[in-house]
Amino acid sequence: MTSSTAPAAAHPRSSTDRRGILFIISAPSGTGKTTLCKQLAANLDGLWHSISYTTRKPRPGERHGREYYFVEEGAFRDMIGRNEFVEWAEVYGHLYGTPLKSLTEKIDQGIDVLLEIDVQGAKQVKKRFEDSVSIFILPPSMTVLRSRLQTRASDSQEEIQRRLHKVKEEVWSYREYAYIVLNQDIGQSLGELESIFRSERLKTKRLNMTWLENNFIFDEEQKPGDHKDLPQPKGVPLP
Ligand code: 5GP
Repeated sequence: MTSSTAPAAAHPRSSTDRRGILFIISAPSGTGKTTLCKQLAANLDGLWHSISYTTRKPRPGERHGREYYFVEEGAFRDMIGRNEFVEWAEVYGHLYGTPLKSLTEKIDQGIDVLLEIDVQGAKQVKKRFEDSVSIFILPPSMTVLRSRLQTRASDSQEEIQRRLHKVKEEVWSYREYAYIVLNQDIGQSLGELESIFRSERLKTKRLNMTWLENNFIFDEEQKPGDHKDLPQPKGVPLP
C-alpha cells in the first residue's frame, strides 16, 4: 500500500457537493497495483488513499503511518474487538485491516476514498457499502507475475512461494468486480483507471438533489418546497 494521504483540507469539495465514492482495487501480489494506486491518488484531485493496519513487518523503505500502520497482533485483535475496522482479513499469513473512522469521515466530507485491499476484504466492503466501485487489476501473464515476484528483493523465498500459491485463486475472483484492467503498460492502465474514476463521479445517481434544486430549479424568489409552478408528471398529485 502506498502513501498518497493528503489531508482532507487539501481536497476541493466536489462541485456537485456529493458524498465521496468508495473505490476498491484488488490484484494479485506483483501486478503493479501499488504503483498504479499511488499514481492515481497523485493525479486525481479529491481522492484519498486509505492507510491500512497490518501485522506484517515493514519492508525496507516502508514507514509506519505512510504505507501502513504496522502493529503487533495483540493490538490488531484489540482493534477488531472494538469494531474499528470496516473489514479485515488474513492475507499471506498476516493480518490486514481497513480503519473505519477515517474512511467514513472522508466520505461524509465528499472526498473519494481508494482502498487497496485483497479479494476477501473487497467482498466485505461491497456488502457494507453497496454503492462502492470495485476494480480488479490483472497481470499481463503468469510468467511476468512470477518473474516480478521473484525479483522483488524485499520478500523472502517463503513469502514469494506463499504469494504465488494464491495467484490462481485470486485471479478467479475477477468476476466479482465491476471493472477489469489488464496491466500490460502502466501508462495505459493508469489512463483506464482514471477514466473509470471520472465516469463514476459523473453518474446521475451520485448527484446531490439539494444542490441541483438550489442551483437550477429554484430561483431566488422560490424556496425549496415551493414548487407548484414546476411542470409536474401527469397523474402525480401535487403535495
Ligand atoms: P502487501 O503485504 O504486499 O503490502 O499486501 C498484501 C495484500 O494485502 C495485498 O493484496 C493488499 O492489497 C492486501 N491488503 C492491504 N491492506 C489491506 C486491508 O486493509 N485489508 C485487506 N483485506 N487486504 C489488504
